[in-house]
Amino acid sequence: MRRIAVIGGGASGMTAAIAASDPQNDVIIYERNDRVGRKILATGNGRCNMTNINADINNYYGKNPDFIKGAMSKFWVNETIDFFERLGILSREEDNGKIYPYSGQASAVLDVLRMKLDQTGVTVKTKYEVKSVQKNKNGFTLTFYNGETAYADKVIIASGGCAAPDLGSTGAGYDILRKFGHTITELKPSLVQIKTDAETVKKLKGIKLRARVILGGYSEYGETLFTEYGLSGPPVFSLSAKLSGQKEIALDMMPEYSAEELVSMLYARITENPECTLESFLVGMLNKRVGQVLLKSIGIEPLSRSADTLSHEEITRLADTIKNWRFNIRGTMSWNNAQVTKGGADTSEFDPETMESRLVKGLYATGEVLDIDGDCGGYNLQWAWSSGYIAGVSARQN
Ligand SMILES: Cc1cc2nc3c(=O)[nH]c(=O)nc-3n(C[C@H](O)[C@H](O)[C@H](O)COP(=O)(O)OP(=O)(O)OC[C@H]3O[C@@H](n4cnc5c(N)ncnc54)[C@H](O)[C@@H]3O)c2cc1C
Repeated sequence: MRRIAVIGGGASGMTAAIAASDPQNDVIIYERNDRVGRKILATGNGRCNMTNINADINNYYGKNPDFIKGAMSKFWVNETIDFFERLGILSREEDNGKIYPYSGQASAVLDVLRMKLDQTGVTVKTKYEVKSVQKNKNGFTLTFYNGETAYADKVIIASGGCAAPDLGSTGAGYDILRKFGHTITELKPSLVQIKTDAETVKKLKGIKLRARVILGGYSEYGETLFTEYGLSGPPVFSLSAKLSGQKEIALDMMPEYSAEELVSMLYARITENPECTLESFLVGMLNKRVGQVLLKSIGIEPLSRSADTLSHEEITRLADTIKNWRFNIRGTMSWNNAQVTKGGADTSEFDPETMESRLVKGLYATGEVLDIDGDCGGYNLQWAWSSGYIAGVSARQN
């Protein structure tokens, strides 16, 4: 019997173990938590956005997103939906191609994976945290924090990245891979809130609005939240995947109207109610507080002025700012708030068809530990299932 050790019982590790199991292989998952798949339970707000029917190369980032082509040709969205259907998960498509289990429970996804691990005879060792991995003449020695060691012919590193450490991620996989000579690219939180200059946003803390959020050439529409440190909400999360040195993020708070239409609208308001103070001038168009803070932030003060004192230049400035309210970016929130890791093990050092290291035979890496991250919407789990499955099949066959 050959022994295949999988480090990490998350999305990619469990898939890898299932794909690796056959009568010739003794497959063992070592998981540092007291149970496998804790992160899966938290995905999609407890509903698990398992994949996305639109998943394509354009949804992925890293030094070389083309690396995912190997996975796309072998085990991609349709194969994933089939795989889970055979395990018992009926799925359903929601907005923007997002796929969820029909039952609406992330726990269902974890349940069927655990049942399959059981049926295929995979051994699951929880509370086993791998400290180091060494290569020997014929295989590998794993050393655990509890002092034990174990032998394996092949090792699949599926220990995730640095995001959401409370769910098990420690970044340990990067250290293990570094010791084997692998390059780890710069690591950053992604799918995370964006920090901006706090002065303006903190005055609006807690206010939500539906806006188009703009980051460089990208934009996303949806519920956006002002916080004391910056901006949050689904559009901000999604755009954080595309952060690459942009200095500003902007809000279009009335995307249905052009700036010219807004100018006419503002003039009409002045005609209707010339003595209205600026304090209430935007009421009914924008959240009252947002309107007040916006006016002050572009120097249209004092708010006790009446609307008919606004100059044409002030009116156009106001309309332009409603369409494009810009904030300086000051980074992102931390790993605790992030859903995924941007960066990771350099994919040029792995075979895209098998996930095997090009530096160390018998060593594989899957999921978030590799330098691949995806958009918000099921793309990251898709990468975890695909890379895990391919690594498992390859470890079983070769
Ligand atoms: C709150 C939240 C919601 C999300 N929602 C979605 C979603 O709806 N759709 C989507 O596509 N993606 C979502 N993601 C992202 C997705 O969950 C991850 O990209 C994916 O789980 C990565 O899979 P992985 O196998 O690489 O790592 P993980 O799933 O993180 O698994 C790694 C496992 O390795 C274990 N481990 C770590 N170090 C060691 C060690 N030294 N020894 C032994 N075990 C170790 C960890 O405890 C963990 O169980 C979400 C993430 C978060 C945090």
